Amino acid sequence: MNKIVPNDNLSKHDCPLAVIKCVDFRFREADQEFIASGLGFKDFDLYAWPGAGKEILNGNGFKKTFVEKIVNVSINLHHIKKLLLLWHHDCGAYGGSKNFASAVAEEETYQKDLRAAKDMLAAELPAELEIIMAYSKTAPQGLEYVVIE
Ligand SMILES: [Zn+2]
Repeated sequence: MNKIVPNDNLSKHDCPLAVIKCVDFRFREADQEFIASGLGFKDFDLYAWPGAGKEILNGNGFKKTFVEKIVNVSINLHHIKKLLLLWHHDCGAYGGSKNFASAVAEEETYQKDLRAAKDMLAAELPAELEIIMAYSKTAPQGLEYVVIE
């Protein structure tokens, strides 16, 4: 079965943003909605990996590979200006929310790891690339996305 899918983007060359986020299917649509209506980006290079960028902290070579792809593809080819590190509620890479004593403890861990990952990446990426950190947590209507400084 062949299927034709319209695509108005093929002639574009530049993209404002790259995102590293978890593969978790439960968050794909909400994450995209946050990036579009919360941050204002329709186009972005997507790096999806289990645990988002948690593996950057592991010292296993993932950081080196990720930095190379960001530089060679997203910066040099697509001219991104910003990189979003996006963690999420109940992430399996952390054993899920049940692995934390409280929702506050889960948030504090995500904030700590986001800042550590940002610092490690900032040391190797061009200074003019802005790195944004955000994570999701539960809210009565669904998910609340928190952008941290
Ligand atoms: Zn996850």
